[in-house]
Amino acid sequence: MTDKVDVVVIGAGLAGLSAAYFLADAGIETIVVERGDFPGSKNVTGGRLYLNPVRPFFPADFWNDAPFERPVVKEKLSVMAEHSSTTVELFSEKFRAEPRPSYTILRAKFDQWLADKVSEKGAFIIPKNKVDDLIYDGARVVGVKATDSELLCDVVVVADGVLSFLAEKAKLRAARDPHDYAVGVKEVIELPAKTIEDRLGVSAGEGAAQLFFGSITRGMVGGGFLYTNRESISLGMVVGIEALKQHQPKVEITELMELLKARPEIAPLIDGGSTVEYSAHVIPEGGVRALPQLVGDGILLVGDAAGLGLNMGITVRGMDFALASGALAARAIRDAKAHPSTPLRSTQDVAPFSAVLLGAYEQALRDSFVVKDMQTFRSMLDVLDNPRMFSKYPEAISSIFEKMFWIGDQPKEKLSSTVMREALKHFGNLDAVQDALGLLSV
Ligand SMILES: Cc1cc2nc3c(=O)[nH]c(=O)nc-3n(C[C@H](O)[C@H](O)[C@H](O)COP(=O)(O)OP(=O)(O)OC[C@H]3O[C@@H](n4cnc5c(N)ncnc54)[C@H](O)[C@@H]3O)c2cc1C
Repeated sequence: MTDKVDVVVIGAGLAGLSAAYFLADAGIETIVVERGDFPGSKNVTGGRLYLNPVRPFFPADFWNDAPFERPVVKEKLSVMAEHSSTTVELFSEKFRAEPRPSYTILRAKFDQWLADKVSEKGAFIIPKNKVDDLIYDGARVVGVKATDSELLCDVVVVADGVLSFLAEKAKLRAARDPHDYAVGVKEVIELPAKTIEDRLGVSAGEGAAQLFFGSITRGMVGGGFLYTNRESISLGMVVGIEALKQHQPKVEITELMELLKARPEIAPLIDGGSTVEYSAHVIPEGGVRALPQLVGDGILLVGDAAGLGLNMGITVRGMDFALASGALAARAIRDAKAHPSTPLRSTQDVAPFSAVLLGAYEQALRDSFVVKDMQTFRSMLDVLDNPRMFSKYPEAISSIFEKMFWIGDQPKEKLSSTVMREALKHFGNLDAVQDALGLLSV
């Protein structure tokens, strides 16, 4: 069967659904093709969604009925040494105030809710259908070949996630470099709401986010995360793929995950819980330097498929980028549809839905928080991709605090003497100065 619609979106993740929502809102006939059984069935995240950056794109009441898990009111950052750890904890009334800056989410629920919003706007979502290829008219993309049908269209929005084989097929992206990706594993561990609140020290209905870095990744770039849901905890680990490939002796991320769960700081938080979900997924971490070509004739890339992810060291972002890029792509398609160049009248006219017209999307993305934030944190991974960050310094930080708090059988020296001596011992060398300068650049 071959049908023609205005736009086909490949993938019903946050990027694809956001694009479809705004396209349908603009009266543009849109079909979303999703390979999973339902939107959200194949999608993995840590899971905290930053809402402030994306609120301006959506109607004010859009989020009122969203299936958020918990607003994050407490941030914790734990530096893990081999046998000790140091945690910085931030609790702030600012983070509790409405509108809440970020919420934890579970994608199986959240993506279905968003898909319902998209359907209400009039777009069609076809699940259990995989797009295997693109259809071309010369160099211009004019449709997709999916499991059950071929669909012709004016524009294809590629929202098929981080590995985006379709972006590669369209030659918008070169072959993947392992340096630009991390792998993540995550468990969802069910616990009663009250237990979660007591263990993480939050009020009823409120939540916490905790990141862990240091010896848990054995010198490799990456870290652990914990997010509180209503009646579960999402606990996971992320490690750079290249670092994992190079690591000697060989280690699997699943082994590191088991060790993380067994840590005495973490085991009591999940004690008695039952794992109801285990997932693994790749994350784009190449940053702004690894951005692919974002548009072609009749095609554009959004979300993870466009490499829009950011490891900020203290948090991971991708979902707000996915939502914003979908919205900006929809705007560019709407404007391209309204462009008077259709049909071509002279050689100066640009072809309908050409890369030139759709290029407005790329510009809008560069002017938005998405590429600006990726630009600001462009050196973060280079700075972090340094074994000392995950071994020597976590040990040093723990050792300083241990010595400050330790009361032994000998008279205690001044705290300032302890700190000065230990700081000089651990950080008074050229490597540490260079690493500190690196940190100042991010
Ligand atoms: C472990 C981990 C932790 C993370 N933590 C966070 C976090 O806390 N906060 C944050 O903001 N971001 C986080 N991220 C990143 C975030 O999850 C992603 O950036 C986001 O999910 C990208 O959304 P997307 O819609 O682009 O892609 P996806 O959500 O991956 O959606 C792609 C969709 O396309 C479908 N698809 C793929 N191929 C085809 C095909 N050929 N035909 C049809 N359909 C297809 C898939 O089934 C899927 O539904 C994390 C990621 C991971 C893996």
